[in-house]
Amino acid sequence: MSKQLILALSKGRILQETLPLLADAGITPLEDLGKSRKLLFDTNLPEVKLVVIRATDVPTYVQLGAADLGVAGKDVLLEHGEQGLYEPLDLEIARCKLMTAGIKGELPGHARRRVATKFVDVARRYYAEQGIQAEVIKLYGAMELAPLMNLADEIVDIVDTGNTLRANGMEPRELIATISTRLVVNKAAMTMKHRQIKPLIERLRAAVVDRQSTAVSN
Ligand code: AMP
Repeated sequence: MSKQLILALSKGRILQETLPLLADAGITPLEDLGKSRKLLFDTNLPEVKLVVIRATDVPTYVQLGAADLGVAGKDVLLEHGEQGLYEPLDLEIARCKLMTAGIKGELPGHARRRVATKFVDVARRYYAEQGIQAEVIKLYGAMELAPLMNLADEIVDIVDTGNTLRANGMEPRELIATISTRLVVNKAAMTMKHRQIKPLIERLRAAVVDRQSTAVSN
């Protein structure tokens, strides 16, 4: 008998880009995820179910084995840590950059820097590596407001077009990491359910490669 596979998807922006990729790999939910308030979905593959959860919860579900596989941004994975997870595939979607940013033209001084971010561990590691003393302040949203309200000297946040920063009189400064969405797999499931998980990874890998060759030829 084939074992059930649970694939955890990140809600929101990543989900919009994940669903077409899953479809290219031959995995389609039996219901419209956007229209339903459900969180657990059957797919056209009887052994594969989808759960749709907050992006920051995906690594936890997969690490603890509640989900076998997950789709999560590298930003979330860097902050969560890599214990209990394999990261076999870059899905090459939702590309963006994790950067420091501050008020335009106001270069930070030498004093201990106050940094507002939701990526607390990433920020601590980054400033320590740079030899910069930093007091990291955890926020859950609207990071761009923190320097304007004199809560922080700098922020660490996701930058895509840079429009959000510009609209708030800020500028990007240093690149911490380039980000894209990754497939993660629970380490125990990779062994126990290898015969099912391996072909799923290969289908997704083929879909990613296919898209890239189409993008190059266009
Ligand atoms: P932008 O104004 O295009 O630079 O977008 C920046 C905002 O969009 C940030 O505050 C992020 O929270 C969000 N964002 C952009 N790209 C992504 C992504 N790939 N994953 C998660 N959040 C993103």
